[in-house]
Amino acid sequence: MPFYICPNCKQRSVDLDGYEGFSTQSVQCRSCAFGFLFQLLEDYYPAPQTGFVVCDRETRVLAAGRGVFELTGYRDADLIGRKVADALALSDTSPIEVVREWGVRKMGQELEIRTRAGLEKLVTADFFPAYDEDGGLLLALTPR
Ligand SMILES: [Zn+2]
Repeated sequence: MPFYICPNCKQRSVDLDGYEGFSTQSVQCRSCAFGFLFQLLEDYYPAPQTGFVVCDRETRVLAAGRGVFELTGYRDADLIGRKVADALALSDTSPIEVVREWGVRKMGQELEIRTRAGLEKLVTADFFPAYDEDGGLLLALTPR
């Protein structure tokens, strides 16, 4: 059974009965009306401080959810269209390559990011591939 998660408010959905006939990309979040939900193959429980960043197949940021600003100091508009690894100065980009190449999730990666203020911050990063035809990936950042 596919699972869906809202990149903005992190609301999980396992039941999309009401949405049959719509593609996942056009399904709005029931909680916050964010424009789309992200499909996961297995359920996932983000931490309260986790922030999601959604990227296209070229790893450019499409959207940043709640929690990302608190974690990074960047707002949506600062990040959208930029390569996520550059924008956040990810200390290791190999998980992104694995996710893109193999279409598998990479969980619990202990990385550093650089905040807008220039501070190094330790995070646990979970990377998820997108399963729709557009490709892309979801990055979950949790402070540690
Ligand atoms: Zn939502």
